[in-house]
Amino acid sequence: MIIMNCPYCGYDDSRVLDSRDVDEGIRRRRQCLRCESRFTTYERILPVSLFVIKKDNSRELFDRQKVLNGIRKACEKRPLPADTIGKLADDIEAELYRLGRAEVASRMIGDMVMRRLKNLDHIAYIRFASVYREFADITALKEEVDTLLDNEAQPLPSTAQLPLLLDGELEVVAGRRRRNRR
Ligand SMILES: [Zn+2]
Repeated sequence: MIIMNCPYCGYDDSRVLDSRDVDEGIRRRRQCLRCESRFTTYERILPVSLFVIKKDNSRELFDRQKVLNGIRKACEKRPLPADTIGKLADDIEAELYRLGRAEVASRMIGDMVMRRLKNLDHIAYIRFASVYREFADITALKEEVDTLLDNEAQPLPSTAQLPLLLDGELEVVAGRRRRNRR
């Protein structure tokens, strides 16, 4: 039995008003039996256990929440629509399961996040990259920023890019790296 707590009052029982198949799952319209609020759930059947192989060769079960936390951290205080980050994590999860493999390298997941952040928001991208790629020093970080700026000079189709460097952003990233290295 699946317990779906009402997002409004937290009650754990609801009645299904409507079900329909959507991509890779079932969308259900529900109504809370206590407060009568209506909400929607997406239920997904995950095909197999997916393991992530980490840099040190240890493995752990894939955890969408971990991906989400990483992205969320990189996107902190960026002017992104609220559901963008969740969608991004969903997207990555779906792509991973579509591969149909039992295990994937953590590096691959990191690259998937980077690719998407690069198209979404350059600050979030640089933040994520600075943790994930472990930029050795400020020069390596600057090179990455320069590459982004070069690419920005050529207009990219269809990606509405947010302004690159807000006042103090680079200093914040650089300062964080400096502290981490100690
Ligand atoms: Zn309720």
